[in-house]
Amino acid sequence: MSLIPLIYSDVYLLHKPKHTHSENPDRIKRALEELKNYPIISPQKVSEEEVKLIHDEDYINLVKSSSEKESMIDADTYTSKETFNVALYALGGALKAFETNGFGLLRPPGHHAGRFGKAFGAPTLGFCIFNNIAFPIRKYALTKVLIIDFDVHYGNGTQDIFWNDPEVVHIDIHQDPRTIYPGTGFPDMIGGKDAEGTKINLLIPPLGGDDLYEELIPIIQSVIDDFKPKIIAYSAGFDAFEGDGLASVRATEWTYYNMGLLSNRFERKYAVLEGGYGVGLIRGLKAFIYGLQGEKKVYSKNTSSDAVKSRFRNYLSEEKMILREFWKI
Ligand SMILES: [Zn+2]
Repeated sequence: MSLIPLIYSDVYLLHKPKHTHSENPDRIKRALEELKNYPIISPQKVSEEEVKLIHDEDYINLVKSSSEKESMIDADTYTSKETFNVALYALGGALKAFETNGFGLLRPPGHHAGRFGKAFGAPTLGFCIFNNIAFPIRKYALTKVLIIDFDVHYGNGTQDIFWNDPEVVHIDIHQDPRTIYPGTGFPDMIGGKDAEGTKINLLIPPLGGDDLYEELIPIIQSVIDDFKPKIIAYSAGFDAFEGDGLASVRATEWTYYNMGLLSNRFERKYAVLEGGYGVGLIRGLKAFIYGLQGEKKVYSKNTSSDAVKSRFRNYLSEEKMILREFWKI
């Protein structure tokens, strides 16, 4: 069994809040403790110029000037002196993850950062600086890419960047946005004119457990079979884990392991860290990596109450109706 390389550098610890904040350097220190025997590859920094592949110049300048001033970009998103520099290394980490089929254990996270920064009316950038998962796709002009974003929050920034790109199918599984940041990410958001159907939003109601994710897996598998991607890219957030802290979904190891298994037949895959603030980063991350490696594991799954299940089924019937216009599911 070959272990998946982790892309990591102590540089990632230099983006740090002045006061207590959920998104802090300890997150990846703790995760790393759990993955001690894994090979580590150092990222390189990308150039400022290259960031323009995914972000508008004004937004890049905003990050740079906030970082120099060590100010808050918005109510959720801080910068420190090194933030701009660290964010360039985070993009480099995503690139290295792509090049090595590895896992980018990096920060700051990126999936809420759209072309112009805040995306689809989100109130803030939700701790994100540059969109890491998007970078390798634009840098190498990749086609036939499937992004799976299982962070509990909607990856609005990623969806914004690829909104009009039919070569990038983006499946985003998240807690019902009526109940959580960023407040959008509904099933009827299907992509721009020439990319309709390539943006797929699947909702989990608050208190939903592994049994609901289990029902989504065959749907994701059908899209994979139909689209036939050349590469699977994961926006890997672990904040849907039960008790992780910022959400009310109740996923456990079962869900993360099975998310990893989805790419088993694929030679080309990479993942970058998004959210995850507590137990998810320990137990969820490990299970996901076992899945990515195709390691045989048995996890038990938890179940949702009938009320939660019925709410989920309502979403699911709408989601399936929309999806059937575009995909064989
Ligand atoms: Zn999140």
